[in-house]
Amino acid sequence: RVERVPLIAGNWKMNLDHLQAIAHVQKLAWSLKDARHDYGSVEVAVFPPFTDLRSVQTLLAADKLALRLGAQDVSPQPVGARTGDVAAAFLAKLEVRYVIVGHSERRHGHGEDDGVVAAKAAAAVAAGMVPVICVGETADDLEAHGSAAIPHAQLEAALGGLPPEAEYVIAYEPVWAIGSGSPAAPEQAQEVASLLRARIGELRGEPEATATRVLYGGSVTSQNVAGFLKQPDIDGALVGGASIDADEFSRIVQFRK
Ligand code: PEP
Repeated sequence: RVERVPLIAGNWKMNLDHLQAIAHVQKLAWSLKDARHDYGSVEVAVFPPFTDLRSVQTLLAADKLALRLGAQDVSPQPVGARTGDVAAAFLAKLEVRYVIVGHSERRHGHGEDDGVVAAKAAAAVAAGMVPVICVGETADDLEAHGSAAIPHAQLEAALGGLPPEAEYVIAYEPVWAIGSGSPAAPEQAQEVASLLRARIGELRGEPEATATRVLYGGSVTSQNVAGFLKQPDIDGALVGGASIDADEFSRIVQFRK
């Protein structure tokens, strides 16, 4: 059995400027140091806004902190005439390891379709980074198609553009659970996570399905995280709102099954 190291990922969204980011990461790192956190048994990543990445990268390098750096978005295009875009190559140069693609706030707020998400995931992989591919159904999708159909379709589209052997993470995020204070039931999230893993197996082979981490996201807090991480097919959490409070995020990272 392949051991999947759980990943706790903090998506700050459009919160914390670069000065606040430094204070936040220092506080988080100290809290985890006090708790003697073993980064080898639970990996921790923060996803600040683009404007904070350089400050956070410098801090992580200077203090030799084992926190991973992530970005919230990436351009699907290579370096060039793309006003406002941020190239994957630039992120990789800042030691960004993870890149969120397909977040519902970009699918629904910025009209990004499956083709764009697939291109962004491929751009991240080509630059040596690991895309965190978000999939999830809206409340209307849930009513019309159940919980699995839309995440499956989104998964298939995103994986279609990836080369063999690519490393990626899947985040199952029911849209109705994001920022709502009403998370999915852990058993229900497990059911979808297990179906997604099975589909990865059909599409790309069992070894990849067994090695790939599937996260849950949607109103995760320190109170409910353990219930999700207990599930056999849930290998971590993508945390939004609760990740911008360093104490709360530290408690989430220290979940006990
Ligand atoms: C998210 O936006 O990815 C998310 C899971 O947000 P929240 O934790 O606030 O629901």
